Amino acid sequence: VPELPEVETVVRGIRPKLTGLSITGARFLVPRQLQPQTPRVVAKALMGRRIRGVRRRGKIILIELNGGTLLVHLRMTGSLHVRPIGADNGDYERARMTLDNGTILVFRDPRTLGILRFYSDSDTIEPLRRLGWEPLEDEVSAEQVRERLARRKLAIKPLLLDQSLWAGIGNIYASEALWVASVDPRKKASSLTRPEIERLIKSVPRVLRAALHCGGTTLRDFADPNGRRGSYQREFRVYGRQGEPCFRCGRPIRKIVQAQRSTYFCSGCQRRR
Ligand SMILES: [Zn+2]
Repeated sequence: VPELPEVETVVRGIRPKLTGLSITGARFLVPRQLQPQTPRVVAKALMGRRIRGVRRRGKIILIELNGGTLLVHLRMTGSLHVRPIGADNGDYERARMTLDNGTILVFRDPRTLGILRFYSDSDTIEPLRRLGWEPLEDEVSAEQVRERLARRKLAIKPLLLDQSLWAGIGNIYASEALWVASVDPRKKASSLTRPEIERLIKSVPRVLRAALHCGGTTLRDFADPNGRRGSYQREFRVYGRQGEPCFRCGRPIRKIVQAQRSTYFCSGCQRRR
C-alpha cells in the first residue's frame, strides 16, 4: 500500500518524464474509478492540455495542467508508468494518456480501487481539504500538535492513519514512528504527554525521510516508475516482527488489531504511562 515515501518516489520518477508535454489523448477503462465523472468527459477535458508539473499532497498525486489538475490516488495497488507507444504495458492497465513526444502515461491497478478525477479549478479539489500537515515540509510545534490532539477520542495509532494530523502516513509508518518515539499506539491521542508529542514530531519525519531514501517499502509489488523496488522493509523495527525481540529493550514485539488494521509495537518500551 503506497504511503508518503512510495508516492513521493513515484512523483519524482514521473515528473521529469511528463513536465512540459501535452496530452493528445486519454482512455479510461474502469468508469467507476472516475465517478462521479465519466471517461468521456475526463478524456475530453484532458485533451490538448500541457503538463505543468507533478506534485504530491499526502498520498495524493496531482498532475498539474494548464487549466486544470488531474488527481490520482493510487490507493491499494495503483501504479503509474511512462512508456513508449507500442511498448508492452503489462497487465492491469486501467487508464492511459498519450503524450505529444510519443510516450504514454499508463495507470495500472490490479484491484481497481485507485481514483482518478479532473478538476478545472485547483481550489475545488475536495480530497485535499481535510488533509493535515505535510510531514517533510511543515515545521510544527508541540503546542500545535497538542491543540489538534485535544478532544480527539481515538487512540494515537488510528489517528495517525486518518490523515487529519499529518497527511501521508499509512499503516507501516505509523507503527514504525510510534516505536521510534516510544509511544504506546493504544494511548488515547488527547492524553499524550508533552515529551511524547515532542518525540513524535521528530520520529514521523525521520521515519518517512529514511524510507524515502530507500525508495520506499516493497512488500509485494511496489516499484518506482523505472521498475526499481524499495528497500525500507529491511529497516523495519516493528512492522511484521511479532514475537521477535525489540531492538531497544529485547522484549517481544506484539501484534494487535486497531480499527481493523494491524499494529506492531514493543510490549516493553512502548508501554502506556
Ligand atoms: Zn522495546
